[in-house]
Amino acid sequence: MTSQLYRVNLSIASPSEIERTARQLRAIREGFLTTGSLSTHTPRSLILESWQRCHTMHVNPSRRFAPLAVARESQLYQVREANELLIRATHSVMGHLTDFLAGSGYVIVLSDAKGCLLDVLGDAGIRRRLARIDFVPGGDWSEAAAGTNAIGTALADRHVVQLMAAEHYCDGWTDLTCTAAPIRHPFTGEVMGVLDVTGDYRLIRSFLTNSLAAAALEVQQELSTLLTPTNVRESQSKFPTVTVGLLNGMNSLGVDIDNKVQRHTDEKLLQSPTPGDIWSQLNLQQRRTRDAELLAAAAGAISASLDLEVTLENVAEQAGHLLKLENAAVFLFEETGETMSPHIWSRDNSSRLESLRDLEAMLGGTDAVSLVRERGEPVIIDDVFSSTTLSVALSELMGIRSLALLPLVTARGVIGFIAAPRSMPYNWVTNDVRLGLALAAQSATAIENARLFSILQQHNRRIEVLNAMAQLLSTLPDPNQHLELVLKRITEIMDLDAGIVLLLDQNTGSLTLVAHCGLPETVSLDLYDLPLRPLHEIACLVATTRESLLTCCEENSGRIIYEPLQAIGFSDLMAVPLLAGQTTLGVLLVGSHSPRGLTDEDLALFTTIGQQLGLTLKNAQLLRSATEMDALREADRLKSGFIAAVSHDLRSPLTAIRASVESLLDRREIQTAWELDHLLHNIAGQTSRLGRLVDQLLDLSRIEAGVLSLDRDWTELPVLIADTLAKFEELNNGCQVERDLSTDLPLHYVDPDRLIQVLWNLLENANKYASPRSSIKVETRWTGTEVLIGVADRGPGIPAGEREKIFQHFYRLDRDYRAHTQGSGLGLAICRGIVQAHGGRIWVEDRPGGGSIFRIALPLPPDSVVLEGLDEPELYIASTT
Ligand code: ADP
Repeated sequence: MTSQLYRVNLSIASPSEIERTARQLRAIREGFLTTGSLSTHTPRSLILESWQRCHTMHVNPSRRFAPLAVARESQLYQVREANELLIRATHSVMGHLTDFLAGSGYVIVLSDAKGCLLDVLGDAGIRRRLARIDFVPGGDWSEAAAGTNAIGTALADRHVVQLMAAEHYCDGWTDLTCTAAPIRHPFTGEVMGVLDVTGDYRLIRSFLTNSLAAAALEVQQELSTLLTPTNVRESQSKFPTVTVGLLNGMNSLGVDIDNKVQRHTDEKLLQSPTPGDIWSQLNLQQRRTRDAELLAAAAGAISASLDLEVTLENVAEQAGHLLKLENAAVFLFEETGETMSPHIWSRDNSSRLESLRDLEAMLGGTDAVSLVRERGEPVIIDDVFSSTTLSVALSELMGIRSLALLPLVTARGVIGFIAAPRSMPYNWVTNDVRLGLALAAQSATAIENARLFSILQQHNRRIEVLNAMAQLLSTLPDPNQHLELVLKRITEIMDLDAGIVLLLDQNTGSLTLVAHCGLPETVSLDLYDLPLRPLHEIACLVATTRESLLTCCEENSGRIIYEPLQAIGFSDLMAVPLLAGQTTLGVLLVGSHSPRGLTDEDLALFTTIGQQLGLTLKNAQLLRSATEMDALREADRLKSGFIAAVSHDLRSPLTAIRASVESLLDRREIQTAWELDHLLHNIAGQTSRLGRLVDQLLDLSRIEAGVLSLDRDWTELPVLIADTLAKFEELNNGCQVERDLSTDLPLHYVDPDRLIQVLWNLLENANKYASPRSSIKVETRWTGTEVLIGVADRGPGIPAGEREKIFQHFYRLDRDYRAHTQGSGLGLAICRGIVQAHGGRIWVEDRPGGGSIFRIALPLPPDSVVLEGLDEPELYIASTT
């Protein structure tokens, strides 16, 4: 077939180049808008001329063929006549594009080699709007001019060019994309015109560059069939020099193009249209339809999965099927510029897989890879034997005779390529390349979708994990106390098997194991011993460098392999510092027992978790110190209160004693024996008050030092209690204590004097804080394990928030300070100390009907507990609770 006799070629500007062009044009336009002149020298004079022409022209925008680059309408007809062949060749292609873009608000423009518009198709509204903003005098043409720019740049640079017009030119458009592809003469390679598609095409930008390149190829192919001998001669006279070097890429690969072009031209010159040509046209049409169906099926298969790995496998396989290859491979470029190991498909699983794996390395340094990588151009090599640089390497070492590299281009840039090798020389025809490029465009979109999806998934996982952590850390009152729980949750969230937390001693700089999970139960927890020693070493490194670390035991993972870890059953491991600002609080390590293929993303996530935990630990630490500070402040406040109270308590009896003693010394003041007696009694009373205070202080200091010694003996409690009450009544004239004493209390092993001291203190308080006539009631019960004693009064009661505090030493209620009630705030603290020394409890409750009940529970020593025949006791003085 004639179409097989000539070589096709595409050249697509790389996205960065497109971006650069757009920026440059914008600068020129802005220069023009401010100076009003186009005098600025620029390499793209073509565009400037076009602007100038448009600016000075009068155009009727409702015309179908707006004479955009000609001054008079008659010129338009001349130009169209001169390019009649090009217009004819492009006609059906523009029709296909119209079908493809139908209803999307598009304009398809064909220009000649000077940028003069030959044909405009598409949405009338858009056409008019574009014409208005682009070219109508008095209109806002200079705001846009994007179409003109794209066409002009495609002509100047001989690439497919894409301009994101909305970003660079016209603010009124949401997203105007102009894509222009140069159409070359099929035999000479000279640019004959430009095909441009302009419209709102953000989503299919990258697809459009390839489809427009393919459309330009179709036009070239069409041109080759239209070029009759006469036409060829005409066109040769127009382009007298056959510049093979213009065929990008091919020339640099040393392919013998001259012969083919010459041969084809000669054949064409000798031929006139025959019935065979008509058949071949029909065949061509049929094949195009079949190809379109195959391509649609392949595109469907490629987009079927959102998994990146599966998508890459599908791309290799579908490329293999569509281009009828034995093998195909997909190479992706990493952000570092490296090429990732390829995904390879093979028809029979046997041939040349290894060599394909090395393909990129073999091509490295040649023009082929830079053409693909930097410019996004396809590289087509029919026969590598005719390539001066690649023949030996490719052909002999890898068994590849023909090769096509089809770029995968997305909005991000060139992300990789599809390698289509053949073991025999192969004539890559327009159709193959068109199919390959269309597939590459579909593949690039599918790969990008899969990549974005996986990023989205990772992102979601990250958010989920961090949420779970934040929730956990915020619900724990003190994470320090629950580090095991936190660690267990972290390993669950990260789907790992084991972990340890080590905290750093800020003074010694040594690490201590504070939590672990998932370690074998029999394992020794000594950090300097196996199996924890290697973990400790890693932790020390992380604590020193303050940097996270990921180790893997899998070969080829490209990561640090730390063998001692394998010895203790750890496969992959991540270690992160627990940081709080400049302070390193410790190290968190988690790992798996089997290879997990942990990635840098996992490490980044784990590092964030480490930061979260570090901050929480730091906060807890600050909170603890704040609480400790509060406690110290409170103690200080109490002590100051105490000193004031004690000084007062000490001073008043001392003052009274001194006054009495002075009176005694000055005998003149004593008139009667009664007066003498009174003074001596006063001294005795005050001295015993002083003595009691001093005793209390001594008791307190013993209790605080934990050295309160009990002189225990088996004691009959009912007798002890009855005697104490009687004495209390006797000493407190008129005070009546109601009794409800159980008679079956067992002998109890207590310090009787201390117990009397406790009872006395409670009775004194009841008497002191309740009104003098209110009743005091004392009750006792036996529970089978404890003796319960209750002292109830009808006093003001104790507010709920103060019920614990009154047992602290020196603590007194504000109301007593205000009422100047005598007291030191030591009594109850001493009572609690004594009761606790007996192994018992003391607390206070509200008394129903008003007042307080102070309760004491004294357990029997274990071996003397009487269990038989005793039920749970009823509360012996009804309590509110
Ligand atoms: P003190 O009685 O010497 O102040 P305590 O330690 O015995 O010291 O009592 C501490 C505080 O508890 C008292 O200051 C008083 O405010 C309160 N309190 C103790 N017992 C009673 C009671 N029966 N009724 C009301 N308040 C009491």
